[in-house]
Amino acid sequence: MEITFLGTGVAIPQRNRVQSGVLVRLEEKPLLIDCGSGVLSRFPEAGVSHTEVDTVLLSHLHLDHVADLLPLIKANWLRGSTSMKVYGPEGTEEWFSKVLDAYEYLQEEVDVDVIELSPGKEFTPDGFDCEISCMAAAHSVPTLAYRVTGEDGEFVYSGDTEPSREIMGLAADADLLIHECSFPSGMKVTNHTTPGTLAGLLEESGIEIGSICLTHFYPEMQGHEKETVNRLKRYFEGEVILAEDLMKLEL
Ligand SMILES: [Zn+2]
Ligand SMILES: [Zn+2]
Repeated sequence: MEITFLGTGVAIPQRNRVQSGVLVRLEEKPLLIDCGSGVLSRFPEAGVSHTEVDTVLLSHLHLDHVADLLPLIKANWLRGSTSMKVYGPEGTEEWFSKVLDAYEYLQEEVDVDVIELSPGKEFTPDGFDCEISCMAAAHSVPTLAYRVTGEDGEFVYSGDTEPSREIMGLAADADLLIHECSFPSGMKVTNHTTPGTLAGLLEESGIEIGSICLTHFYPEMQGHEKETVNRLKRYFEGEVILAEDLMKLEL
């Protein structure tokens, strides 16, 4: 399983970080998790054709996670790929139909199947050899964290969240936890994670995880890289990785 970080940023524009998007290659077919602004333009940079993507998981509907979904669907249509399956939390169907409503010509051309998931749901998307389960994250809108189990290993993607016991439970014994880390330690934040709040919950939960990769960085995180890794290493024996756009991890 190969994981490519297409975007590791947030709603505020930053040099070298576009908004959220993670591409997972399970055997042949890639699965895209989140599709924020800038993610589509990362496809050629990652050496992947966007037309290969016909399945997208959305963690939630904030713009920094969905802004490039319709542009991806349009780009695929222009290249002859018209079908897409979009999985997301409660509200995804209404959101997507409103967005598509604004582009009448596309409605006739594309075949988009939107599937809403409830926390706790387990499923295998069509054409994939993996199991996916989801759990509610602790964010300001309905948000899902995903656990993807393939032949070579398993990882959890937290989505946007405060550190949560449920997500720690979902991540127990996973090879990799991809967790958001929006702001540096010491900042008072809600709906998001700092290295300090994540470290606290890791210590409390005592779960085994192979490695942790942090992503979803606000500009405020710049200059706090070393202390972030050190903070987590106090409570965690595995590798702590800070994601960068176009970085690849193998499981
Ligand atoms: Zn976000
Ligand atoms: Zn969000």
